[in-house]
Order: sequence, then C-alpha cells, then structure tokens
Amino acid sequence: GAGGEVGRSCVHMSFKGRTVLFDCGIHPAYSGMAALPYFDEIDPSAIDVLLVTHFHLDHAASLPYFLEKVGHHVVTLTCGGGRCCYAVWCLNLLCSALLCFCLQTTFKGRVFMTHATKAIYRLLLSDYVKVSKVSVEDMLFDEQDIIRSMDKIEVIDFHQTLEVNGIRFWCYTAGHVLGAAMFMVDIAGVRILYTGDYSREEDRHLKAAEVPQFSPDICIIESTYGVQQHQPRHVREKRFTDAIHNTVSQGGRVLIPAYALGRAQELLLILDEYWSNHPELHKIPIYYASPLAKKCMAVYQTYINSMNERIRNQFAQSNPFHFKHIEPLNNIDNFHDVGPSVVMASPGSLQSGLSRQLFDKWCTDKKNACVISGFAVEGSLVKTIINEPREVTLANGLTAPLHMQIFYISFSAHADFPQTSGFLDELRPPNII
Ligand SMILES: [Zn+2]
Repeated sequence: GAGGEVGRSCVHMSFKGRTVLFDCGIHPAYSGMAALPYFDEIDPSAIDVLLVTHFHLDHAASLPYFLEKVGHHVVTLTCGGGRCCYAVWCLNLLCSALLCFCLQTTFKGRVFMTHATKAIYRLLLSDYVKVSKVSVEDMLFDEQDIIRSMDKIEVIDFHQTLEVNGIRFWCYTAGHVLGAAMFMVDIAGVRILYTGDYSREEDRHLKAAEVPQFSPDICIIESTYGVQQHQPRHVREKRFTDAIHNTVSQGGRVLIPAYALGRAQELLLILDEYWSNHPELHKIPIYYASPLAKKCMAVYQTYINSMNERIRNQFAQSNPFHFKHIEPLNNIDNFHDVGPSVVMASPGSLQSGLSRQLFDKWCTDKKNACVISGFAVEGSLVKTIINEPREVTLANGLTAPLHMQIFYISFSAHADFPQTSGFLDELRPPNII
C-alpha cells in the first residue's frame, strides 16, 4: 500500500533458480477475481516457498484460492461433471459443445507463517466468507477451501531457521498485529529482508519491530505513510479518551467502527484501563460488537507469551484480556439502546454489518459521536464521513443528514516516516524496494 491506498500484497521473487512468494493478499475494496493478485503472470509450480507475514486480508486472504484453485487452464470439450471454473458455449454456431475450462492446483511448494498468524487466519477468513455478500460466482473460496488450506500451512517460530530446496529463511517480530513477522531469506549467500507491515512503536500489548542483527543485501519495505509523521501516542490516546468521555457525559452514544482483530484489542485495553481510572463512568456500558468477539478474546489470551513485557507482567496479576468494563455483543437484537454507551463494532469500513446498523441509527443526532481509529480505505463509508458531508446515504438507500460528530484519531500500526528512516539508517541495506 502507498499514499493512502491499500493494495494487495504479493511479492514474487526469483534468484538462481529458486522462487519465493511473499504474502498472498486480496484487495479489500474489490470482490471476486478483481481482488486477487495477478496470479496469471506467474508459474505457481515453480514456487518453492510461500511466506505469509501476518493475518490481515490484504496479506493473507488469497491463500485458500491460491492453494486450492490456481493453475494452468486446461481445456476440455465436454463437462466431466466435476467442478468447472468456467463453462462457455462454443462460438462456432454449428457446434453446440459446452467448453469447460478447468483450473488445476499446481503450487507444489511449502507455506509458512507464525503460530498466531495461522490461528487468526482461520478465524478471520471464515468470517470473511460469511460476511462478504457476493454472488456465488464471485465467491473466491468457501469454508472447505479454508480448512484444506490449514492442512498445508506449516508454522515457524520467531528466530527459527528453516531450509527448503537450498533457500534458508527465518523471521523477526514486526509489531503491527499479533503474530506479524518480517522474513529474512538467504539464497546462495544473498540476503533479502521482506518487512510486510511493521511498526517500531511498542503499544499496550505488542513489541516493536526488531532490527535484524545484520544487514540484508535487499530490503523490501512497506511505506504506507510515506513522509507523514504520527502524532505522539499519548496525544492520540488523550484525544481518543477525551472524545469518548465528553460524548457520553453529555448523554451521547459513541460508535467506534473497527475490524474484529488487530487494533480492536489495543483500543479495548485503552478503554478498559480508562474506565477503571474513572469511577464516574462505571454506569456507562462499553460493548465489543462482533460475531467474532468471543473467539477473538480466546485467541488473544492464548498468545500472551508472544506479546510485550508490559502485558505479560499484567498477566501475572490477572488476565488483561478479561476486560472488567467491556461486554461482548454478538448481535444488535440483544442490545438495549436506552442511554449513553460506547460500542466498538465491526467492520471498520462501515460498509455493512453491526457497525453500519448502528451508524444508520445514530448518525442524525448531534449528541452522538463516531470515532474512527483505523486506516480508512478509499471507497468505504468511513472514508466518506471523515470529510464530514452534510448528508449520508443509509444502507436502505435513503438519505439522512449527518449530525453525529466525527473524530479521526488513527491508531493504525504502520511505520511513519521517522520510523522508516530510522530503521533503514540502522540496517543500511545497499538496495531498497
Ligand atoms: Zn497489515
């Protein structure tokens, strides 16, 4: 991703007859085949290893499709009754044959990711399949494809060195989200570092990205924030808690659209701590509204050991992910909307689901607030409301005035310019991509 646009990560690298694919993402603003990387430009059968850096959809969500469905087009003249990918009538008017184009799986390499990434990948992709309202022909894969892909994914520990067909590789902590890794690959003594998404800032639960102990010959590095500089963390946290505190103390409702996994856990830790320190807020409920809420909590509790010292020390006292002031909410029907409240709801884009239902309900009241905390993808409602238009289109197609207050306070865990330049100054790679 670059300059405010999120793309799909998939980097194909070949050297001395060895081939590595880094990440296998989808473009979150597109659906169907248009969301995939350009798989038709590569030969999947030549790839030795596929290394996935983290669970975000734009880095991992093409994997079930790639493992189960990508291959060379094989034309058969009659339909064998199997699963055909495309079927067309022959264009020759005298011929009535149904031509079936079937795709064969041809990737024969090995796939690696960290333990936490694999666990969350499974959860997140099942949810993606359930919530994406696309037609059957636009469905890239189903639950069965995800389950089959799980059998093919091998796990790697941070700093563990593995070797496949003469390619040596190992990984470092990348910050960003739970389980995120940067991969160092060594082919015939030439080293390549692929950072994926990374952050050099320690937060409430994650370690900062490590700087590898020696320099790679080539560094492939993300540059999402370009030359921008983030506000200091304590400033962003204060703006976040102030916006929420002011809104609820004046009788308003606060909506925080967020994806079920990743930044949500960080923001919940901030909110729970703030509520603990402010007894006057204890009567105001906080909900974490996502169909995945309970499962996500369980996964995060499993991986406490791969988080930072702060959270591990907290864990010695009591489990920090057993929130004292936050309740999970699986659907809106169980929600009694009778007074001020704070609801963190998925998805972060406001395109559909729980967050959209609440937005449509609350957007016309000026007492209410929407706090946007993540990266706003081009083309989504969340991006539209950042510019505070006078009116918005509701999910039912009607137009409504936008009176709700909009706050944009980014907690997106990508490196900014000072972090990127600092990282490269320490690493001094002769080649940077
Ligand atoms: Zn990411």
